[in-house]
Amino acid sequence: MKIAVVTPPVRDMYFTPGRNSALGMHTVSSHLSRMGETVTLFNFPGDNPGGFSIPPLKETEHLTPFLIQGEKGPVSFFTGYRQFGPSFEECAARITATEPDVILISCFAFAYAEDTVELVKAIKETGCTALIGAGGGGVSAFPQYFLASGIDFAVTGESEKVIPSLLKELHRTDPDFSRVPNCYTSIHHNKIEGTVPPSYFSADSSDLEFIWSITGETKKTRYISTSLSRGCPRRCRFCSNFLTHGREFRKVPIGKIISGVTQIPTDKHTVINFEDDNLSFDPEYLFEILKIFTVHLPERSFMAENGMDYSFLDSSIVKALAKAGFRQLNLSLGTLSTVSAESEYRHLSLSKYENVLEAAEQSGIAAVTYFISGLEKDSPEAAVAALRYLHNLPTLTGISPFYPVPGLPGFTDTELFLTHSPSLCRGASFYPWNGTLSTAQLVTAFRLSRYSNLKKKGGRSETECRLIELSEREHRLYTVVRKHKGNRIIPVPHLDTAMVEMFFST
Ligand code: SF4
Repeated sequence: MKIAVVTPPVRDMYFTPGRNSALGMHTVSSHLSRMGETVTLFNFPGDNPGGFSIPPLKETEHLTPFLIQGEKGPVSFFTGYRQFGPSFEECAARITATEPDVILISCFAFAYAEDTVELVKAIKETGCTALIGAGGGGVSAFPQYFLASGIDFAVTGESEKVIPSLLKELHRTDPDFSRVPNCYTSIHHNKIEGTVPPSYFSADSSDLEFIWSITGETKKTRYISTSLSRGCPRRCRFCSNFLTHGREFRKVPIGKIISGVTQIPTDKHTVINFEDDNLSFDPEYLFEILKIFTVHLPERSFMAENGMDYSFLDSSIVKALAKAGFRQLNLSLGTLSTVSAESEYRHLSLSKYENVLEAAEQSGIAAVTYFISGLEKDSPEAAVAALRYLHNLPTLTGISPFYPVPGLPGFTDTELFLTHSPSLCRGASFYPWNGTLSTAQLVTAFRLSRYSNLKKKGGRSETECRLIELSEREHRLYTVVRKHKGNRIIPVPHLDTAMVEMFFST
């Protein structure tokens, strides 16, 4: 059977190479190949990583006043939308040219559900009659949304438990997808209702494979991404990990990593990025993995761009990570306020966090600390207090505006996601889901974090020094725009002036 496994193009304001790893797609295709199927891979965002400019999405018009044409430099916001990957028509033509019997689409986040729907539409317009299914993190959150687009089946959860029975049905002349675990179907059931899977099926540790992919390459460096663990027993209310991976922590068997790592080329310095949500949960396992990579790749360094939970770290672990080849620690704090931490079921120990940060500084590795703005108990005052706190510590600040997906606590009513576009379920939409911070306040917090990071940057240009001077004198944020081949410093409009004043005067 010929199967096309596809990651659709993405429409967004930014797309980093790390998000291009398509590990879900590679996991599915590796499983299918091992079962003897003929697989063709299409990782469309990887085909055109720079993307092309597209008109603003009408669902995110609320952002228009905050976009400044020509804005650039270290304090800039986003300037517009791009499509990362070819046009949907070109993608459809390339997929159907391989004459697949089945097309499996990976939607890794619900925010990109409309990109999957657009691709399905374009494929159908070619007259292609292949069966089309979808899976991944986005589908796991709300499979019925995808069924409504006319696909034949939608699979939730982890693919390892699903693929064997899915293939069995796909090989039949009259497949019955209701026999496949975690499979919602529109063929034999009502399109919107689908079938309710009998129970949650997640993979056993022994089912997990070592999957990795190359996300970038220069003359001297190769960047690869992998994810070696699944699931998390913690219950932070803002986290959607459990919708796809469940609550049990599992990890790829060490033996599979030892044999799989030998496939990674050794001719360049290699940066290994762990995409795991919770790799530091088992430090013993983590250090064993680092050792395996080090033996195979003497020229390597490590990253964990999705963030490491500081609560599993201590100063000796941080020092050992630095020694092993981590050049930067991405620390996820979630929230810095006690009230929010309680309401989000999130642990918070600032003294522990500060110890971790101190150890990073002593080990000579940089730190970036992430927190979420716009949580249910957040406020403009709490957001500024968090920014000020991090501003005074040896760390850069990463801010993620809160966004829900269907199924998160407080967002289980799927009707909400039929009346609100999935595009709003991305941080870069700055949508006030909880109403605690408005869009202007979310954008203000984001811009203040950029300003704070500029203040910590070495080797600042003359323009950047002037911008800082103006901002501090006037308690107002400024930015840089390109004008007639030169740069101009202008004040940023539409910000929350009270938050800016609070930031500069405390
Ligand atoms: S945020 Fe991290 S610790 Fe919390 S539930 Fe998600 S993966 Fe687990």
